[in-house]
Amino acid sequence: MKYFSTRSDSEPISAAEAIIRGLAPDGGLYVPESFPQISAGELAGLCALDYRGRAARIMAPYLEEFDAGEVAALCEAAYGDNFDTPEIAPLRFTDEATAYLELWHGPTSAFKDMALQMLPRLLTASLKKRGVDKGVCILVATSGDTGKAALEGFAGVPGTRIMVFYPRDGVSAVQRLQMVTQGGDNVGVCAVEGNFDDAQAGVKRIFSDAGFAAELGARGWFLSSANSINWGRLLPQIAYYFSAYCDAVNAGALKMGERLNFCVPTGNFGDILAGWFAGRMGLPVGRLICASNENRVLTDFFETGVYDRRREFHLTSSPSMDILVSSNLERLLYYLTGSCGDAARWMRSLGETGAYDIGPDCLAKLRAEFSAGSCGDRAAAEEIARVWRESGCLIDTHTAVASAVLREYRAGTGDTAPAVVVSTASPYKFCPSVLGALGLEPKADPFECLAQLEEETGTRAPAGLAGLRGRAERFSGCAAPEDMKAAVAAFLE
Ligand SMILES: *Cc1c(COP(=O)(O)O)cnc(C)c1O
Repeated sequence: MKYFSTRSDSEPISAAEAIIRGLAPDGGLYVPESFPQISAGELAGLCALDYRGRAARIMAPYLEEFDAGEVAALCEAAYGDNFDTPEIAPLRFTDEATAYLELWHGPTSAFKDMALQMLPRLLTASLKKRGVDKGVCILVATSGDTGKAALEGFAGVPGTRIMVFYPRDGVSAVQRLQMVTQGGDNVGVCAVEGNFDDAQAGVKRIFSDAGFAAELGARGWFLSSANSINWGRLLPQIAYYFSAYCDAVNAGALKMGERLNFCVPTGNFGDILAGWFAGRMGLPVGRLICASNENRVLTDFFETGVYDRRREFHLTSSPSMDILVSSNLERLLYYLTGSCGDAARWMRSLGETGAYDIGPDCLAKLRAEFSAGSCGDRAAAEEIARVWRESGCLIDTHTAVASAVLREYRAGTGDTAPAVVVSTASPYKFCPSVLGALGLEPKADPFECLAQLEEETGTRAPAGLAGLRGRAERFSGCAAPEDMKAAVAAFLE
């Protein structure tokens, strides 16, 4: 399996290379040349396996330089007792046609762990295979959850350092605490003045700075990415779509071969794109429903074919979706247009003017597979209360957006086929909002909030969050976007 950049007809490279590089030199994203097919018989076979077995089977054909045993070992290590349930990604039904795919049982209580418990292992194995003897410095721009998940994945990994940038006013109290208390000698954390897009643009600028790369190279370092632009982030995510399907079949909610809809709370478009990949590989995916919060740039895009980031940026109660530039959309557009020409042109237009228009033909192709909807903070809060009241299932603010959008989609289209809401964070990660949704006045102290939610619902806070109490804050730096490069240089001194 070879990989191409979405932006030029560059030389195809191997999976290990693509994972090491993160972003292509031309600014594009790496995409596989084809989609390995999982036959109906194989899908039935997957249903008998546990999560690790399923993940290994899905990932292996994309990783040509790794033999099947190696991939299996990686999956054993990534999805073990670092998760708080042996099911790893349990599927929880609230009625016979609706289930929540809980992707937050990993060490940082958000779905980013599904990929970031795997990526450091993939990356270090790739470096070994390619004989790279430089140290790798991972740069991350985070809207909240990626940062902690990446820190947790890379802390203490030999030969690596990791520097995380988060928007100063764009993450929750618990998210910030998770990051600034991170242990490990090879980690750095820095706030950025601005929003997530400012942080992400700053990291992209550093990556495309050839002079800086040469300077670091001379000092024995090269930069790579743990954002979902890295193929090694996206690949592990394909597995849980297959796993959810198998679990739905095993639960008797779905006949093998029947289509299953997925509704995905979307930010950078990585999660939902993994679902689209699963469909391309032969999984009977029905509609992929792209759920946005008040930053509804994707909802408008799926309606009109015009992607326009020139709009007000809203800070919402689902901060991990407060994004106006969804990087992974570029990969989807690359495949839908069948060449790198159009996607590259549109991305240039996005950079230069803040917008692009894909035209009616490409829009029709998109709408053949995707639906979209958005939901504001108030409706999301009502959804949290409703799901809790009606089914005793406690969901977070991001999951609530998807849950409400699915409800609206079903009412609007009459398509009540079995559907999975992808549940992306533990409700305890966004305690004040969840408490507010349940009609309670959240206490000011984040740890009192955890206790309050435990008491109110009789559920338990994840150990990783409760354990933050009393931990020393190690990182207090804050940089303007133009100073991020200097911060990286200083970190690698
Ligand atoms: C990152 C994140 C999302 C958005 O996922 P994308 O892959 O960026 O679309 C949604 N919910 C939570 C809780 C997240 O952490």
